Amino acid sequence: MPQRNTEAGDGPGTGKGAERLAVTLLLTPLLIAYHTQMPDSLSNMIACPKCDALHNVPRLSPGAQAKCVRCGTVLMAPRENAMTQIVMLATTALILMVAAVFFPFLELSTHGLGRKSSVFDAILAFSDGLMLPLSFAVAALIVVLPVIRFIALIYVFAPMALGWSPARHARDAFRLAEAIRPWAMAEIFIIGVAVALVKVAGLAQVTLGPAFWAFVGLVIVTILKDNFMCRVTVWQTLNARSPS
Ligand SMILES: [Zn+2]
Repeated sequence: MPQRNTEAGDGPGTGKGAERLAVTLLLTPLLIAYHTQMPDSLSNMIACPKCDALHNVPRLSPGAQAKCVRCGTVLMAPRENAMTQIVMLATTALILMVAAVFFPFLELSTHGLGRKSSVFDAILAFSDGLMLPLSFAVAALIVVLPVIRFIALIYVFAPMALGWSPARHARDAFRLAEAIRPWAMAEIFIIGVAVALVKVAGLAQVTLGPAFWAFVGLVIVTILKDNFMCRVTVWQTLNARSPS
């Protein structure tokens, strides 16, 4: 009577069991490669923000640039020590914002009468009656949203600048910082002030206070900070270093 192999629990040396083991051993790396390659190949693709052309982007060394082949828009420009520089600039911006809000912004004087006012006074100027929503909007767009953005960026980049793994919910914080970027309008405010100054200068003597220069510094620091930041590299680093 031929000896029958049991279906389960065969040793590697027996006929069917050995066959199955060989097939499993062959298939496992293929399955692993399939499952790991799918998201990888997608996460390596980036779309040009201007013309939507898809590119397969390799890892760039700091100082190198990747440009769109169709329209030439810079897609990636990683920099050396960019994270430390962003943390420093965001902290500087926070300090300048405190000075910009509470120190005197302008002094208007005419016929011997002078009046100093700060940005905080300007926000409170709309705080009575029907203009109250305007007061909230001015406070949010000029002060609150930029401050939330600076804090979120410090939260995301400070641990990574120190070489640690990203803080909890760092990806959510960076997503928030990117979402409120168009709404943080400190620089629009300073342009508005410049236009208003031209009109007021004919009526009264205008003296610029320290808060005005703090605001100008804030705008320069914000532009520098946004220039240092290569979003694709930030996302790649966040995804590579996050535990999940
Ligand atoms: Zn393009």
